[in-house]
Amino acid sequence: PPRMEDVMVAKRLYLLFTEHQCKIVMPHVSSCSGRTFETRDPRTGEVIATVAEGDKEDVDLAVKAARDAFDHGEWPLMSGSERGRIMTRFADLVEQHADELAALESLDAGKHPAVTKAVDIGNAAGSLRYFAGAADKIHGETLKMQGQFQGYTLREPLGVAGLIIPWNFPTTMFGIKVAPALAAGCTMVVKPAEQTPLSALYLADLAKKAGIPDGVINVVPGFGPTAGAAIASHMNVEMISFTGSTEVGRLIMEASARSNLKPVYLELGGKSPLIIFDDADLDMAVELAISANFFNKGEACIAASRVYVQESIYDGFEKKLAERMKTWVVGDPLNDPTVNQGPQVDKAQYERVLSYIEHGKREGATLLTGGKPCGQKGYYIEPTVFTNVKEDMIIAKEEIFGPVMCLMKFKTVEEAIARANETPYGLGAGVVTRDLDVANRVVRSVRAGLVWVNCYFAVSSDCPFGGRRMSGFGKDEGMHALDKFLAVKSVVTPLRASPW
Ligand code: ADP
Repeated sequence: PPRMEDVMVAKRLYLLFTEHQCKIVMPHVSSCSGRTFETRDPRTGEVIATVAEGDKEDVDLAVKAARDAFDHGEWPLMSGSERGRIMTRFADLVEQHADELAALESLDAGKHPAVTKAVDIGNAAGSLRYFAGAADKIHGETLKMQGQFQGYTLREPLGVAGLIIPWNFPTTMFGIKVAPALAAGCTMVVKPAEQTPLSALYLADLAKKAGIPDGVINVVPGFGPTAGAAIASHMNVEMISFTGSTEVGRLIMEASARSNLKPVYLELGGKSPLIIFDDADLDMAVELAISANFFNKGEACIAASRVYVQESIYDGFEKKLAERMKTWVVGDPLNDPTVNQGPQVDKAQYERVLSYIEHGKREGATLLTGGKPCGQKGYYIEPTVFTNVKEDMIIAKEEIFGPVMCLMKFKTVEEAIARANETPYGLGAGVVTRDLDVANRVVRSVRAGLVWVNCYFAVSSDCPFGGRRMSGFGKDEGMHALDKFLAVKSVVTPLRASPW
């Protein structure tokens, strides 16, 4: 539950930031064109800061700085333990500045300060610490080889990494992408989402304070089709780690194919199923379905937007869910600690979610709760639950990325698995049951990158995060994430002076 102190501190800092027009987080250089863009407070729609708008030329400069830092700087050459020490200091600073970051995310992304603190800052600092510990454990293998040779492998940093991140968990995304890149000894260009550029700029400042040398982390705020596309097609960017929509993931792969064939790792959309069996603890199942859909205003790629409930408990579940939703509070997360759900990130997203809700109504789904905007101003939407949903409806097929749940009924385990897999996505999945056999069958059969049993959303720095199919490939977090930033080089030496 949110703490009053968090809300008060966030509110005070919010006033400070707005009074100073966010000067504290403005980038250190203007854009080459001199252009800027505005970022708005989703609680009111008002402009909160003007940020330098990076484009191709700025990306070129950032890549050049990163390339210089890689080729001539100390970061890739530094011992792993020294890199780890600096990264740990960075993690400390992130935690020490939790109040400022929480305030920034509330005013830039409409996030609840308590969520930012617990989730975003926890993940970002956690990831920095986890990969700090990994930085001095990067080593290759020795190879016996056939004939008169022996070999070994080196695992080398790839060079300049391109990190393109979304707006729903800006601090988390910055942390989980930057941390393994730093540990590997890469340098990087980071492009935060245009909706939420402020925390990345603030975090870059903290990185500098922590002792990360200039040129290692370069943040270029700007738009996707300009700054983002320039990173994706840059000849000197050696890899891309991207989190965002499936549509843009495709564009990034295309850009890589047309430029230097850089490896691309994509964490994309989802339409994750949550399957609730009739032996489940009903109260727990209802709470899980709610948080799996409405946490962070439904702005989560792993949201379980398709909830399947077994027929024999369906009516009881629906009734309990409707009752529970009456106590769900939508409102300004900076003014009221009891608020569960803040505003959607921006106008475009707000309108997009509302248009999906209209689709649902038109297609004949029934509204159990919500279904319309709320509040006098800002981008607030009622938490919406649709029943009588069929798999071929748009609301059951497409990622909505907002507070919209589709509730459906099923009879057997086989049917639940088949319907859960009836999606081109494969990101998350949840199963709620006390029956271990049933849980195991679902775990084995569901096509997803993460499966939660009797829980949902639980993540951690050591838990690989990422999907399959149209949800992308490659993992954030866990040791798999480090591999993305390393190249394996095989080295062969003769056993005798002249083996020929
Ligand atoms: P959403 O639809 O949720 O806003 P996007 O996939 O559009 O997600 O955005 C995620 C990130 O990708 C943002 O930083 C955005 O600026 C960036 N982006 C958007 N279009 C492109 C593109 N064509 N090339 C590279 N990056 C892009």
